[in-house]
Amino acid sequence: MALVTLISEEQIAVRVRELGKQISADYDGKTVHLICVLKGAYTFLADLARVMEIPVTMDFLAVSSYGKGQTSSGEVQLTKDLDVSIAGRDVIVVEDIADTGLTLNYLLTMLRSRQPATLKVAAFLSKPSRRQIDVDVDYVGFEVPDRFVVGYGLDSDQLYRELPYVAVIE
Ligand code: IMP
Repeated sequence: MALVTLISEEQIAVRVRELGKQISADYDGKTVHLICVLKGAYTFLADLARVMEIPVTMDFLAVSSYGKGQTSSGEVQLTKDLDVSIAGRDVIVVEDIADTGLTLNYLLTMLRSRQPATLKVAAFLSKPSRRQIDVDVDYVGFEVPDRFVVGYGLDSDQLYRELPYVAVIE
């Protein structure tokens, strides 16, 4: 078993900086409220927040999708809710990867009912070929092929989150 780099640390740094600039320009004059979807998005949130050029606040929620191994069953459970209200805020959900889209769809439906002023999504990765439900991902770091990827927050059975790059396991 070997880890093969798919996206290098340098490529990630460049792309995250671009996203930070783009989001900062789009929300110029505002404070953006970043919601980190634990656990996978923690690295992306930390890097993205540090390259933003406008004020940010942040909060954290956690979800678990039922089902074993590398496929999502589509049943999503909120295991940690937000600490503060999002009503009236400009919210961006920060996610590690949009795969089937089921998790994001669940989260967006839930968050929309709490009446944020605006609600968008930033996903570090997207696997468009796997989408089962059409969700709008406003900001995407990289599109990846239909391969199971690890690193930069993403895990395989809780391992490899600490890798500073994105890899496939071969
Ligand atoms: P969904 O299928 O879009 O609902 O994605 C659910 C979650 O599965 C994501 O937030 C990730 O945490 C995880 N996931 C999906 N694809 C991968 C992958 O290639 N590597 C690691 N985790 C993944």
